[in-house]
Amino acid sequence: MKTNYKYLFGPVPSRRLGRSLGIDVTPFKTCSLDCIFCQCGCTTYHITERSEFVPFEDVCTELEQWLAQDGCADYITFAGSGEPTLYSRLGELIAFIKEKTEIPVIVLSNGTLFHRSDVCKETALADIVKVSLSAWNEPSFQKINRPASGLSFADLLAGERNFRNCFNGQLWLEVFLMEGINSKPEQVQQIAELAREIEPDTIHLNTAVRPPAETGVMPVSEKVLCSFCPLFTPPAEIIASFGTVSSANEKEVHAETLAALIHRHPATATQLAAISGSDEEGIRAALAPLVEQNQLQIEVRNGEDWYK
Ligand code: SF4
Repeated sequence: MKTNYKYLFGPVPSRRLGRSLGIDVTPFKTCSLDCIFCQCGCTTYHITERSEFVPFEDVCTELEQWLAQDGCADYITFAGSGEPTLYSRLGELIAFIKEKTEIPVIVLSNGTLFHRSDVCKETALADIVKVSLSAWNEPSFQKINRPASGLSFADLLAGERNFRNCFNGQLWLEVFLMEGINSKPEQVQQIAELAREIEPDTIHLNTAVRPPAETGVMPVSEKVLCSFCPLFTPPAEIIASFGTVSSANEKEVHAETLAALIHRHPATATQLAAISGSDEEGIRAALAPLVEQNQLQIEVRNGEDWYK
């Protein structure tokens, strides 16, 4: 039976996370940052105030339905249309999931609200939390991450350090590097020193392998990215998908897998990209032939393309 979930999407196959069920608790696109490298496009709601953007009870109902009808995933991941810690009932929602299932919970966060004790306490209920750090001082933070009014680089750093102290799970840190913006060795060295103070369990280096069209942001080469890995403690891993030109067969399998889950639960390219570790352009390219052949349709809802 096809179930049209509003807040759940997937489970989507992900290179690093296996089968991951996504939960999207913010309207497109609600974030405390407006990063120049964001693959979701420009931030529409640029805020730091938390809110119950979507009804808590409705998300719980969908989760209960999914657990009863499917319930099979390697992870349940808060990701999608913005910054999940802006959802004011995040802690209650994680607690609800923990009560109902043993599937580990991941929160993909930009880390900007961790200077608040309520956000730290709630997010610490997750099993894995990923935060980000791509700047080394206030001017670079303003240029790269374009924070909402009132957010400072000092808040971000203090918050991420503070979160480490109250979180016993796996803390992952993502550093997004861009050619000519934060890719000089001395800049990366400074980011690495600040990252060490956050004491993450794992550090991921990423870059704009497919540059966001509207910003002209350029990727750092794989060779240069490799040379930066040992600067970090622990040594960083590269998660950018360099040179992964899929064979025709792989593309077909990928498109078929995506189509199968879309037939069960409509989803946007943003959601599919966030949860699968691919990029939106790749998702759209993989699905375009199926749209042409009428195997999938695109419906515009609130200005977003939904595949169904
Ligand atoms: S924090 Fe994430 S969702 Fe928000 S603007 Fe930056 S990349 Fe996009």
